[in-house]
Amino acid sequence: MVRAERVCKSFGHVEVLKGIDLEVKTGEVFCIVGPSGSGKSTFLRCINHLEKINAGRLYVDGTLVGYREKGGKLYELRDREVAAQRRDIGMVFQRFNLFPHMTAVENVMEAPVQVKRTPRAEARKRAAELLDRVGLADKIDSFPAQLSGGQQQRVAIARALAMDPKLMLFDEPTSALDPELVGEVLDVMKALAQDGMTMVVVTHEMGFAREVGDSLVFMDGGVVVESGNPRDVLTDPQHERTKSFLSKVL
Ligand code: ATP
Ligand code: MG
Repeated sequence: MVRAERVCKSFGHVEVLKGIDLEVKTGEVFCIVGPSGSGKSTFLRCINHLEKINAGRLYVDGTLVGYREKGGKLYELRDREVAAQRRDIGMVFQRFNLFPHMTAVENVMEAPVQVKRTPRAEARKRAAELLDRVGLADKIDSFPAQLSGGQQQRVAIARALAMDPKLMLFDEPTSALDPELVGEVLDVMKALAQDGMTMVVVTHEMGFAREVGDSLVFMDGGVVVESGNPRDVLTDPQHERTKSFLSKVL
């Protein structure tokens, strides 16, 4: 579903991604862990072309992200074409970024109505179903300020799902939450994984990675240091840098 080949990204003269190679298979939960500043968010943002890569190739579902290749040369896609690529990729951030002046159901139906031109009644019905799926059937008419952080984050997940993405990206979705609210969001993510959604998850929740993850990479300094089955990497890391990181977070 996602293939990265020697992906590099710099900001000015600061090289943040130094040749990332990885493959996310369809239907798997792919976890990315690593210290602050290692490039995890930057890599995630490259997948939906919120950041343009400087070198390498990045494919989603077999299609080059942000570019068209012709005769060995790359040509940038038009904004409209990039938007079309992004439509298939849902993203959930650390902060929930809900529209504060809209209720939960209005937040969830917004993109289908505005982007896909789904009729409002149909979009509202689907949004209500999605909110039910994330355990918020009784909160559809609540405004974000009336919801807990965990509830807001579940609305954000429902909102991403409303566009029927083939891939979901999560960037530390629980790290801004009070500890007692983390579980409810992870449970929703786990259910989504069990439904077969392909997910790339940047997380510090090693329990989630071990239990739900199919693959895991440890990133440090803009490279993949170690990768494999989460159980193996987390219990028996091979590299010193992985060992040292895990000894601090586990
Ligand atoms: P964290 O765990 O703290 O979220 P991260 O692994 O997600 O860290 P990134 O946010 O990808 O790390 O950042 C990697 C490096 O790139 C950092 O040194 C950061 O300062 C730098 N960086 C990220 N975005 C930009 C930007 N827009 N302009 C300049 N530098 C940036
Ligand atoms: Mg980050």
